Amino acid sequence: MFKVALIGEFQQVGKDLLEKNNINYFETLDYDIESLKLKLSDCDAIGVRTAKIPSEVLSHCSKLKIIARHGVGYDSVDIDYLNKHRIPLAITGKSNAVAVAEHVIALFLSLARRIIDSHFIVKNAEFSKKTLLDNTVELFNKKVLIIGFGRIGKEVAKRLSAFECEIFVCDPFLEKKGIDIKPYKFVDLQTGLKFSNFITIHIPLTKETKNFISKKELSLMKEDTILVNTSRGGIINQEDLCLALEQKKLLGAGLDVFTNEPPEGNDIILSAKNIVFTPHNAALTLECRKRMAIETIENILDHLQNNTNIENIVNKDIL
Ligand code: NAD
Repeated sequence: MFKVALIGEFQQVGKDLLEKNNINYFETLDYDIESLKLKLSDCDAIGVRTAKIPSEVLSHCSKLKIIARHGVGYDSVDIDYLNKHRIPLAITGKSNAVAVAEHVIALFLSLARRIIDSHFIVKNAEFSKKTLLDNTVELFNKKVLIIGFGRIGKEVAKRLSAFECEIFVCDPFLEKKGIDIKPYKFVDLQTGLKFSNFITIHIPLTKETKNFISKKELSLMKEDTILVNTSRGGIINQEDLCLALEQKKLLGAGLDVFTNEPPEGNDIILSAKNIVFTPHNAALTLECRKRMAIETIENILDHLQNNTNIENIVNKDIL
């Protein structure tokens, strides 16, 4: 009988699927390396939310046949180890694009309409101070740059179309393939940064994309630009962002992801101006958590039943 470990909290609908298929499973919220080494040593599959699974743990998993991420980012798992040992890594490719895309629109609108400042004016019984608020702006008719046009970037574009935005896409990998993205337009990064009013980032964190948006890129942006990052912390250089906001090089920023998660109390980012934070919960709507739990378990079951869903496997080459 197969044994499956679920690391982190999974919605019941996912666990029901395991039970229906008579799979022996356990759930753990203990992410300590030493206890993971012990607990995972006889598992055939691991479903994992945000816990880090380094090679130090993986090397103790002699029966491991698949790791299934509850999400699409996989920088928390040692992919080099998995490749070397020909263990597939699955993601929930169908589940979370819509939730993250809605979150991007929420951050754009909270910054553009100064929702947080407005809320506190009312709450502090200072209603008449509304005339002192800085200008609010609309999304209507604005130029928006989407960096990374994969699952999430595409869903963001669909939603922005309803606001009648002019949408530009920076994704050299897709552009090189000659893919038609009409009615949107491809643009190179530097040009896009220079003319966009709203910018949103949807690329993975890799060695190449670390500090992708730093001092130089921030200096190209317009003073009325609103920048949102829901991809991964580390893609934007946070110190450079703080300085750029301080110097009013851009209008505002929205961050769902941070270089250090959670940011410590003395993290410089927490003192930044004109910024809206959310605690890496763009994909954590109830609907999305249910979809991710189901898709994670489906990825495990399909693979254990020799019916691997290749579409969701990150390291397809090893199969
Ligand atoms: P995806 O793989 O479908 O799309 C990524 C796109 O980025 C691809 O089209 C790729 O060509 C493009 N790309 C890669 N490097 C690039 C570069 N240097 N410049 C421009 N484009 C580049 O991924 P996705 O499902 O859309 O997710 C994007 C990222 O969002 C994930 O990697 C993950 O880190 C993050 N994410 C965050 C949350 C959250 O809760 N905040 C949830 C889901 C995903």
